[in-house]
Amino acid sequence: MELVTSYIDLMPAGRDGKKLVKESHEVSSELLNEAIRFHGHLGPFLILGLKAGLYANKILGKDHSKIRVIVETKLSPPYSCIIDGIQVTTGCTMGKGNITARNGESVSITFINGERSLKMRLKERVLESLKDMSTKGDSERKALKIMSEDVNDLFDISIEKGG
Ligand SMILES: [Zn+2]
Repeated sequence: MELVTSYIDLMPAGRDGKKLVKESHEVSSELLNEAIRFHGHLGPFLILGLKAGLYANKILGKDHSKIRVIVETKLSPPYSCIIDGIQVTTGCTMGKGNITARNGESVSITFINGERSLKMRLKERVLESLKDMSTKGDSERKALKIMSEDVNDLFDISIEKGG
C-alpha cells in the first residue's frame, strides 16, 4: 500500500492542482501493488496490459475458462511486459495456454469470447513515446503517465460480434 501511495504522489497534477488520478481508478492501488509484486517492477507496458485487461473484462466479462487472448508484440522486454499485465487482470495465463504470444512490430491484443472479440491496437504515437527508456526512473515516469491516460487515447479499439 505504502508503495502505491508514493506513486500517486509522484503523478503530475492537473491545472487545478489536483492529481490526475481520475482515470487511474481503473487501476486501483491494490491491483497495481499486486501487478508490481508479480512482475517485479513498474513499467509502462505492464500498465498497458492492466488497462487492456480491465477493459476486456468490462466488455467480454472476466472468465478465464472462456476467454482466449492473442498478443502480438516484440517478444522481449519492455514490450512483452504487457503480457503480465493481461495475466494479472484477466486470469488468462501463458501456463494455462489461453494466451498466445506472437512476434510482431506493432503491439496489438485480441480478446476472444466465443463469437465476440475485442481488438486493441496500441496507437503509434504511444508506441513511439515508449521507445527510448534508458533508466528505471524514465520507465516509471512513463508508466505513471500511461496510468493517467484514458484507454481510448492509448489504443485503437474495435469490437466484433460473430463471423
Ligand atoms: Zn517489465
